[in-house]
Amino acid sequence: MSEFSLIYQHFQNATQRHTYTDIGIGDDCAVSAVPADMQLVSCVDVLVAGRHFPIDTRGYAIGHKAVAVNLSDLAAMGATPYAILLGLSLPQSLANEAWLADFTRGMAEICRQFNVELIGGDTTRSEVLTLSVTALGFVPHGQAITRGGAQVGDIICVSGDIGSASFALSEILAGTKSALQHALDLPIPQVTLGQQLRGFASGMIDISDGLGQDLGHILSASQVGALIDLAKIPAHALLQALPKQVRWQHQMNGGDDYQLCFTLPKKAFATLQAMLPHPIYAIGKIVAKPGLSLLDGGRPIDFPIQGYQHF
Ligand code: ADP
Ligand code: MG
Repeated sequence: MSEFSLIYQHFQNATQRHTYTDIGIGDDCAVSAVPADMQLVSCVDVLVAGRHFPIDTRGYAIGHKAVAVNLSDLAAMGATPYAILLGLSLPQSLANEAWLADFTRGMAEICRQFNVELIGGDTTRSEVLTLSVTALGFVPHGQAITRGGAQVGDIICVSGDIGSASFALSEILAGTKSALQHALDLPIPQVTLGQQLRGFASGMIDISDGLGQDLGHILSASQVGALIDLAKIPAHALLQALPKQVRWQHQMNGGDDYQLCFTLPKKAFATLQAMLPHPIYAIGKIVAKPGLSLLDGGRPIDFPIQGYQHF
């Protein structure tokens, strides 16, 4: 059991106490205040070594990514993150000071960046490193942005470069070093933008399984279709240099970008473009015809959409 006390030592003071927390790590449960006029927003993501990240990914990146993917889900609802709980199944080989310190630092640094507290968790031993992070956040009552509100005529936007993580993974799997490894290992959740879109966006999702598939979730939840111009999807210079079909494969069918995809009424798009400190990118529009229709620089084309399949 001594490694478990080692674990608590690492986690107990890993993050700053949040003002909402009355009791944090150390008791049977954490106890938190729910701010007035807010709704609790919660999500959980499970990451399995070898499936969600290469088995030799360093601890720092695993800690970072496990938190980032959950903050990305909160961002996609327009929520303000508050806290996480960490379920950790750890192989004996990683239950050592060096790995735990590196992992905890990765987790703690992104928590600090977004004012998130680690308020609890559970630790067990297992053969395969498995992490389950539960994230909690708050949104003003009735203001959560769902997948289901997109309207015909709305502009479809993304928050930044798409396809970088998938391209990096393909390079790593091919045995070469990738200049975009950071996009795969250290994604930055669009937490601030998500909140700024409250009151503007009609629908929103974060892109974890590929833009094609994830936009498809907005379309089915909203019972609409979309027309996307592939030439308008922002791409890193290294992807712009690829043959189109390869670039589109990474952008539409690759995963792990953790950018936001959202829909905006035309007027809101103009307002936001003027108001936001960072650009947002219009890539198409919502149409009545069901399904996803694709253009390349205005010309209709066919391209097969097939996002990440878990089963
Ligand atoms: P219990 O047996 O009551 O579930 P534990 O011994 O598992 O309690 O945990 C003791 C305390 O340590 C709890 O407050 C729990 O939230 C915290 N804790 C355990 N594992 C983790 C972890 N992986 N991350 C953060 N906190 C943890
Ligand atoms: Mg326990």
